[in-house]
Amino acid sequence: MRPVSPSALRPYVCPSCRSTRLPSRRKFGSKPAPITDIYDVVCVGGGPAGLALLAALRASPATSKLKVALVETQDLNKARSWNLDSQQFSNRVSSLTPSSVSFLQKIGAWDHLDVARTQPYQEMQVWDGETGSKISFDWSMETSPFEDLRTVATMTENSNLVRALLSRIAASGGDNLSIFSNTTVSSIENGGADDADGPDLSAWPVLSIAPTGSSTASSAAPSRIAARLLVGADGINSPVRRYADIGTEGWDYHRHGVVATLSLTDQIPAPFPIGTRTAYQRFLPSLGGPIALLPLPNNHATLVWSTTVENAAYLKSLSPGAFIAMVNAAFRLSMPDLQYMMGMKRPATSVTNLEEDPHESELTWRLQHTPAVPHLPPMATGVQEGSVAPSRSASDTHQHTSRRGLNLGLGDVASLSRTIEYAVDHGMDVGDILTLEHYTAERWATNAKVGGACDVLHKLYNVPGQGPVAWGRSLGLEIIDRIPLVKGFLMRNADS
Ligand SMILES: Cc1cc2nc3c(=O)[nH]c(=O)nc-3n(C[C@H](O)[C@H](O)[C@H](O)COP(=O)(O)OP(=O)(O)OC[C@H]3O[C@@H](n4cnc5c(N)ncnc54)[C@H](O)[C@@H]3O)c2cc1C
Repeated sequence: MRPVSPSALRPYVCPSCRSTRLPSRRKFGSKPAPITDIYDVVCVGGGPAGLALLAALRASPATSKLKVALVETQDLNKARSWNLDSQQFSNRVSSLTPSSVSFLQKIGAWDHLDVARTQPYQEMQVWDGETGSKISFDWSMETSPFEDLRTVATMTENSNLVRALLSRIAASGGDNLSIFSNTTVSSIENGGADDADGPDLSAWPVLSIAPTGSSTASSAAPSRIAARLLVGADGINSPVRRYADIGTEGWDYHRHGVVATLSLTDQIPAPFPIGTRTAYQRFLPSLGGPIALLPLPNNHATLVWSTTVENAAYLKSLSPGAFIAMVNAAFRLSMPDLQYMMGMKRPATSVTNLEEDPHESELTWRLQHTPAVPHLPPMATGVQEGSVAPSRSASDTHQHTSRRGLNLGLGDVASLSRTIEYAVDHGMDVGDILTLEHYTAERWATNAKVGGACDVLHKLYNVPGQGPVAWGRSLGLEIIDRIPLVKGFLMRNADS
């Protein structure tokens, strides 16, 4: 028979009898700090996903009485007071699907958002820079001619969303809620079974938390907290994932993303119906990845250009004028023209205002010899100072469980909060693995599907030239574009 460890039997022994058992082996060194706080749910990470979980739990009558905590390394006061001029935009902008928006509306967070800073778009144009084949996404096949065109997605700055979520959480009151801001989780391990008088935490995760860096946290903040259910919304270097021994599948794409906030010319002719906005994406196989221009309010746009490490470094080293010329070229010129411009020497000294940048004059000249296509974005005319930056998310590693888009994160949060709600309603233990099975079943396939689809797209659109792969992907794109049923199916899948 397998020997049963004393800690496994401990829940069945009453606290007073526990102290009469043989004393446990004496430990040398300092004793860990006592666990002062025990929570039903602890979430590590106060980014949009972690805060959305907290807001969802607080919003539901069933889960609002749970004792919950959130631990965030960074200072959340900065996020609460985030403010930008209406003509300036943060670089970290997410394209929220209608499902994500309706979840945020359901939990009451959308009402706290500065909606004037968000930008819905109703159409997306995607085309292949190598072959010119194109596909457009909109909901026209499911909308009657008398209705407004439905939104494909809504551009929302992450900082705007984080501020709204914090404000929603604050509006739910402070009962049973602890937010440890400026506090880092240094380690997580199961609680010990040595404390005779305390509860048995041997199967519970216990987090050691401490003020971040040299910051001083409130003296009332505990240094060890226990969680019935521990949730990791803590990004790429997740201590929760390490504790739970969850592996990641990933491989290096050797790609970097360049992001920037741009201002655009007025669209001529004006879009119909007025106010309709479009997102643009052009695949550039010979340059290592796609370029995307997503609309922001007041004729601004956010740029995400995924390319090779060398190209990204080159783009970031250009003057603002040359950078804008390269962006306009990337949407308009043929691949050989574009490759030529990507190899142009940078001027040794910065170009004066009176002189045109060599990249600008090269673009002007080459555009005269390039046939215009109807689905081009408006020309970029300016770049927000200091906004050209590398983006880690669009960069080198593809990891299904950590660097997923915010929509996937919010989908996970919606599913998990529903699962916890169900458990509370039915008197189940929120920390029990069986309780969480519904969440795993609901989200595993979605996450795997999105990860797989991204991988296939990456591989397909990184084959340069006009060979059979280019021919096959173009044919596929054109066929899907002509079958509204298939396109509708793809769009519904992308949304859910
Ligand atoms: C340029 C750009 C464009 C993007 N566009 C889109 C898009 O269009 N659509 C989309 O869906 N997604 C997009 N994304 C991705 C999206 O922004 C991220 O998926 C999203 O920020 C993830 O949110 P999160 O809350 O899961 O993680 P994060 O925002 O990474 O938050 C994790 C938090 O955990 C905290 N943390 C980490 N370790 C600890 C610790 N030990 N103790 C305490 N706290 C800890 C961190 O400080 C951080 O605040 C984009 C990203 C970028 C950069």
